[in-house]
Amino acid sequence: MALIVHKYGGTSMGSTERIAQVAKRVAKWARAGHHMVVVPSAMSGETNRLLGLAKELAPAKQGTEYLRELDMLASTGEQVSVGLLAIALQAEGQPAVSYAGWQVPIKTSNAYTKARIDNIDDGKVRADLNAGKVVIITGFQGVDEGGNITTLGRGGSDTSAVAVAAALKASECLIFTDVDGVYTTDPRVVPEARRMARVSFEEMLEMASLGSKVLQIRSVEFAGKYKVPVRVLSSFTPWDIDLATEAQSGTLITFEEDEQMEQAVVSGIAFSRDEAKVSVLGVPDRPGIASQILGAVADANIEVDMIIQNASKDGMADFSFTVNRNDYARTRDLLKDKVVPALGAADVVGDTRICKVSIVGIGMRSHVGVASKMFRVLSEEAINIQMISTSEIKTSVVIDEKYLELAVRALHRAFDLDQPAV
Ligand code: ADP
Ligand code: ASP
Ligand code: MG
Repeated sequence: MALIVHKYGGTSMGSTERIAQVAKRVAKWARAGHHMVVVPSAMSGETNRLLGLAKELAPAKQGTEYLRELDMLASTGEQVSVGLLAIALQAEGQPAVSYAGWQVPIKTSNAYTKARIDNIDDGKVRADLNAGKVVIITGFQGVDEGGNITTLGRGGSDTSAVAVAAALKASECLIFTDVDGVYTTDPRVVPEARRMARVSFEEMLEMASLGSKVLQIRSVEFAGKYKVPVRVLSSFTPWDIDLATEAQSGTLITFEEDEQMEQAVVSGIAFSRDEAKVSVLGVPDRPGIASQILGAVADANIEVDMIIQNASKDGMADFSFTVNRNDYARTRDLLKDKVVPALGAADVVGDTRICKVSIVGIGMRSHVGVASKMFRVLSEEAINIQMISTSEIKTSVVIDEKYLELAVRALHRAFDLDQPAV
């Protein structure tokens, strides 16, 4: 008998029929003698629908205003899910109890819309488990010191589940979703993508941070910090599939690197459309410029990703960087209003039709020429590279968004990631 956490994503919870299937699957695990905690997301589309309602009332300034109320609103999607799932389980004859984040409580920082989990009280949950109940806890939300409801950022139910698993010292956290594991790249973009039976924690961390939304980055960070075994698997298999088979399916995130993993130079390709580029033109090339530009951006709480400064000509340089697309307008306005006049720069221009494509692999540590192969493959497709950044186990490029699919497919093939043809 073990303590197991299951997480079910939006599509897995997408209708009452699907919720009934989830209940049957969870009941199967409980009948096998496991202590079960379940963390569901809102039904698919629900979080977008809720946030859309807010936009109808207040179209402008989303992302900087109404944040507390947006969390109050968005958190309701998960409350619906836990209520329905508890009813479905009880209807199956399986005792179950549902909790909102604040009832557990899952304590978070007060950074509305992107709060961080500080602490989870396990008392109530353990008592219910010992009383034979399945405990169902809302994903995506928590409560701050002041009793305000907070949310953890889009895709945050993954993080709730792994954090709950860490707090309860669960044997494993199973992330049930609409694909049957972690693939070499998004299988919806590259049908030839291959499922990995195991992926190293470090690679998963890079893939998630570079845009693979199969797991929210913070869930991977939690898994690493508390050494929680995490497995990604499908909720679309028949619910009555043999439990032992199910428990070995999908993709396991491992903390040991095996030889096979090191052999693959590139093990995955990640991409993100959530990018925008901003350039400050005609900046006087003198010490302190980067700090003045990026300092102003940081003061506005805007995260900067890639940075590039071109060689100066006649004492003037251009300074470009990328931000999340949601922060683009705010960044551009801030630079125009404050930074350009202060520096005596010429202008600010930007581009929201860009994307970031990255190759990831721990094998890159011991192989040279991987990045140059990436650049060659892109040049053969006549794709212009606008920015580059590298680290030990990844290389990322910024390119025009219209070439995203072409670039990902070409790289997937060139780095031998395509499934063998049958
Ligand atoms: P959930 O609602 O279950 O949280 P998400 O939509 O957040 O599901 O994440 C699952 C999706 O992640 C898949 O449908 C797939 O399109 C996408 N995805 C992106 N990169 C990958 C990858 N490398 N492997 C598997 N899925 C990926
Ligand atoms: N419902 C939230 C979202 O759509 C959290 C999640 O699905 O993980 O972002
Ligand atoms: Mg998700």
